[in-house]
Amino acid sequence: MEKTLAINGGKPVRDRYLPYGQQWIDEKDIQAVVDALRSDYLTTGPKIREFEEKIAAYVGGKYAVAVSNGTTALHAACFAAGIQQGDEVITTPMTFAASANCVLYQGGIPVFADIDPYTYNIDPKDIERKITNRTKAIIPVDFTGQPVDHDAIKEIAEAYGLVVIEDAAHALGAEYKGRKIGSLAAMTEFSFHPVKHITTGEGGVIVTDNKDYYEKLSLFRTHGITRDPALMTKNEGPWYYEQLELGNNYRITDIQCALGISQLQELAGFVKRRREIVRKYNEAFQNIEEIITPYEKEGCHSSWHLYIIQLDLERLSVGRREIFEALKAENIGVNVHYIPVHYHPYYQRLGYKRGICPHAEALYERIITLPLFPKMSDKDAEDVIDAVHKVISYFRK
Ligand SMILES: *Cc1c(COP(=O)(O)O)cnc(C)c1O
Repeated sequence: MEKTLAINGGKPVRDRYLPYGQQWIDEKDIQAVVDALRSDYLTTGPKIREFEEKIAAYVGGKYAVAVSNGTTALHAACFAAGIQQGDEVITTPMTFAASANCVLYQGGIPVFADIDPYTYNIDPKDIERKITNRTKAIIPVDFTGQPVDHDAIKEIAEAYGLVVIEDAAHALGAEYKGRKIGSLAAMTEFSFHPVKHITTGEGGVIVTDNKDYYEKLSLFRTHGITRDPALMTKNEGPWYYEQLELGNNYRITDIQCALGISQLQELAGFVKRRREIVRKYNEAFQNIEEIITPYEKEGCHSSWHLYIIQLDLERLSVGRREIFEALKAENIGVNVHYIPVHYHPYYQRLGYKRGICPHAEALYERIITLPLFPKMSDKDAEDVIDAVHKVISYFRK
């Protein structure tokens, strides 16, 4: 292998850039979308209910409400949980901003609890420390696909009367103590963005066993309007409907759900392939002292949305930025997940200070996300491994 780093003018490990994540669309998916386009319904048709039923059955939940994306799913869940002005909701800073933004949409206040330095998931002990008499809910995030500590979170939620809204955007297909993610929290959100486990282009869903939440989520998705006589205050005739709440148009289309139904058939294979690639990575990196590979907690079956390495910066002659740029020059689509949510200027303007979550903040300085998606070939994975070896060997102290 060429020793000169691409960033120093050497030949890159790969000629073509390898993204960190990507969808896998086959001919069957394309046909499903074409069929939906030829059908009578582009939206509010039968494909939506069918997709919802299949998702609920897959994760072991009773009801599912499919919406326009994962962010609107989280917003709808906060609405259904009754989050309003001044209510506090505890979440992790090591996540995409949407996990906290959904609280702000409802006028609530996101409160950040620190992560466990091994699993990178929200630390139940810090959740408990951050509870006040205004706390109404917890939004734990199954970071990278590894399930959160459900037993501990459930115990806290029950003791303090809090609603658990699980942000499982990374965790479709993951399992906790033998149960699928989606059957454990009061409400669980999944995202169908193209980098996630299955895609509808844009899309999201909330799964719940609670009929009251289900009705609120359904109302919220479509302006707060109902035609269900059981929910209306009166009925003036067959044309009649009522707006009961201030909802929005957060609907997903039949075209998207047709794609989702088709993609769902591949989910088990997608997760299996993600696990295979992770096994390759873990084996290849176990003897590189400068790299800390992801820690898998016993009883947690990750569905591996992301593969994140931690750099032991004391053993390297440069910082994360130089390693990142060198890998990128080798045509490896590296990324950083995530910039702690409270670091963003918007959150800083709201008054959140640096230093409130030391473990998450320290982790942020040392992490790099490597490409991981089921369509990657073995050769793609080997290129990633070669590039990591090349760059780390060069910058080893
Ligand atoms: C992707 C993601 C979301 C939002 O999903 P969208 O479908 O992109 O709106 C929310 N939370 C986390 C942790 C995510 O990764």
